[in-house]
Amino acid sequence: MKSEPLAESTDRFETLAARAIRLRTEGVRGRYAPSPTGAQHLGNIRTALLAWMQARLQGGVFILRMEDLDLPRVKPGSAAGILDDLEWIGIDWDAGGGIGGESSPYVQSERGELYATALRVLERKGLVFECTCSRKDVRLAASAPHGNSPVYPGTCREARHASRDRPRSSRFRIPDRTMSFVDRVAGRISQDMRTEVGDFVLKRKDGLFAYQLAVVVDDALMGISDVVRGIDLIDSTPRQILLYEALDLPAPDFWHVPLMHSDEGTRMSKRFESTTIEAYRAGGGGARQLVGELAASIGLVEAGTRLSSRDLLAVYDIDEFRRRLMEFTKLSMPPPPLHHSPGRRGD
Ligand SMILES: [Zn+2]
Repeated sequence: MKSEPLAESTDRFETLAARAIRLRTEGVRGRYAPSPTGAQHLGNIRTALLAWMQARLQGGVFILRMEDLDLPRVKPGSAAGILDDLEWIGIDWDAGGGIGGESSPYVQSERGELYATALRVLERKGLVFECTCSRKDVRLAASAPHGNSPVYPGTCREARHASRDRPRSSRFRIPDRTMSFVDRVAGRISQDMRTEVGDFVLKRKDGLFAYQLAVVVDDALMGISDVVRGIDLIDSTPRQILLYEALDLPAPDFWHVPLMHSDEGTRMSKRFESTTIEAYRAGGGGARQLVGELAASIGLVEAGTRLSSRDLLAVYDIDEFRRRLMEFTKLSMPPPPLHHSPGRRGD
């Protein structure tokens, strides 16, 4: 009988969910969630610095989580290197990142049971179906490719897959509606779930849980109130908000911040994309110099300023910080890349 472990894991999930909702009432909880797939570049660290500032400017808690779901891409030693980079630049954290904490474990590869439970919760609500389509099937059946990834046409929505011999993924049954949310930096974002997204994968055929499910379960159960991350993830956000709703968990506020893209072609953006922190340090650059450069690159301080991460907290309050980010985003970015970003892992 599988019923007992199921009840147990569901109980645990519900206990964690109730605690997370309580944590949310205690104040701001931010996070940085890198993938330990290689060395951090200056651009990654800039996003980490902004996420840290957002939490610390409000006296909030900051959590460090490793998103290592895609195990084949994980590089040994990379997680330790990321912690070292963050420490060097003066970013501190209260939980995760090797120091544990109340929502342990903070490493996705050790949280599979929670993702499995969330999937079962969604299954019991009739929100999941099994799909045997190959990538090629989806590509061929999609009426029009959307951006780089074709929209799933719903082939297996009503199908009964009697035979067990074809590998299957689990997909979320999206509602026929437009999702809309107000990003704290990028403003109002709307996405038509049917025509722009389609039923999306929660668990891949190879058994790996999809990023969309894992990130929602993690942020929800860790009581994260504010997600500050790169704007390349903005087109995932309506899907994630759908999952929060389906799991009856409160969604955080989202702050999508500009990325440095080498295809902008500027010397600075090329450098940000290609320079690792290790290389920067090896080249003789100091932490105060780097913090100054990162902050200047997004319009927070004058070019040439040298200051510590702590000093940066004294420069602005949270409202002014947000106003600067919004201004910089408007100046530097085209409209949010909802129609252009490739899907992330598992889509
Ligand atoms: Zn299918």
